[in-house]
Amino acid sequence: MSPSATARPSLGDPPQLSPDRLLPSKSLPNTTNGTTTPDLDASLLRFTPTTTPRPVPLPNSPEVASQSTCTDHMITSAWTAHAGWSAPHLQPYAPLTLSPTASVLHYSTSCFEGLKAYRGHDGRLRLFRPDRNCARMLASAARVTLPAFDPAELEKLIKALVRVEGPKWVPPARPGAFIYIRPTLIATHPALGMQPPKEALLFIIACFLPSLDDPRALPTPAPTPTPTPTKPPAATGLKLLASPPTATRAWPTGFGASKIGANYGPSLPQHSHAQSRGYDQVLWLFGPDHLVTEAGASNFFVVWRARPERGGRVEMVTAALDMGLILAGVTRGCVLELARARLGGEGVAVVERAFGMREVVEAVEEGRVVEAFAAGTAGRDLDIPVPGAGGYAARIKAWLGDIMFGRVEHEWGVVVDEDIEEEEETGGA
Ligand SMILES: *Cc1c(COP(=O)(O)O)cnc(C)c1O
Repeated sequence: MSPSATARPSLGDPPQLSPDRLLPSKSLPNTTNGTTTPDLDASLLRFTPTTTPRPVPLPNSPEVASQSTCTDHMITSAWTAHAGWSAPHLQPYAPLTLSPTASVLHYSTSCFEGLKAYRGHDGRLRLFRPDRNCARMLASAARVTLPAFDPAELEKLIKALVRVEGPKWVPPARPGAFIYIRPTLIATHPALGMQPPKEALLFIIACFLPSLDDPRALPTPAPTPTPTPTKPPAATGLKLLASPPTATRAWPTGFGASKIGANYGPSLPQHSHAQSRGYDQVLWLFGPDHLVTEAGASNFFVVWRARPERGGRVEMVTAALDMGLILAGVTRGCVLELARARLGGEGVAVVERAFGMREVVEAVEEGRVVEAFAAGTAGRDLDIPVPGAGGYAARIKAWLGDIMFGRVEHEWGVVVDEDIEEEEETGGA
């Protein structure tokens, strides 16, 4: 990857055929017309460094809390049905230009991912199971007829962005810091007719987030005047408001299991209702049995002791994937794997199944709930609404943190090698 001479880093111009597109590249069978078109190919990445670097906000500044500060660069690759994927371009972060008829603006033909790059206590930068995010993005794309791509190439592009932004935005001097990576795929096809898009744009941006384990750096609560004092963070745990029967996030055979834009806008009224009442997240229930599905954009777990007549064992329970009501969180999968491997010996049974609010309420009333927690990348990695005596969530959170921040070597923590020169140039920023 070398700086290119591209003078004008523009985006959203009609997809152009750059000379790079004529290079031999990977091919992917195009299922719509039987021909092959170039696949997403990270080896073709061009780099146009920014000439107007942005200041890194101070850790506790309002810019960080607003979660609107992106780093200096982004990666883009345009796709058309005829020409396949264009050579990816690592270029200065800039607004997009879209036709007002772009499919995404009308029909929510978009999908995205969210993962973090963590600055380890050993000074190295790590992604956490990025292959999982890339595979999930491919699946989400298919759900709204966005084009396919090789997920391994997406992972390489994510690493390329992190490699460039890491030294400045999460410097080695700040172990424990992270940036949030948001790969996004949108249909740019400029036509109002309902149809699978023939043009799309992949972009990968990195956003600067507050360190959530630092209570001083928590995002400011919604500016709704409430008579109650603002809630203290962490200490009281996460407060969840169960969704009413009139609000359903996902349903069987629907699309709740995909990370597509269509899932999130419609959940906002319920989310803002919960926040205005002093809650952190919505606990999404489904159907007449009030099945417990997810908490906001994170997966929900409850640890309880089964009734004595059912053996009285400790169970860690979370909704199963089979009904398509929940997003298969990467964190969820890791919690399940770690709990099975490391808590099984302590007699904790890890269970994926449908469970309703009635079961939870009964367990609470009978004093059988040990703890409950929500797991996902966007917030703290594990949030604990019912800080329990079991301490299972706290231990799993510590195990995850050890991997993310490199206290232990683990295959889930993928080290991204950085450009040392870059570090010297910008390390003092
Ligand atoms: C992203 C997301 C999650 C959490 O997934 P992770 O991969 O663990 O970050 C859970 N639920 C929903 C609805 C989500 O969008």
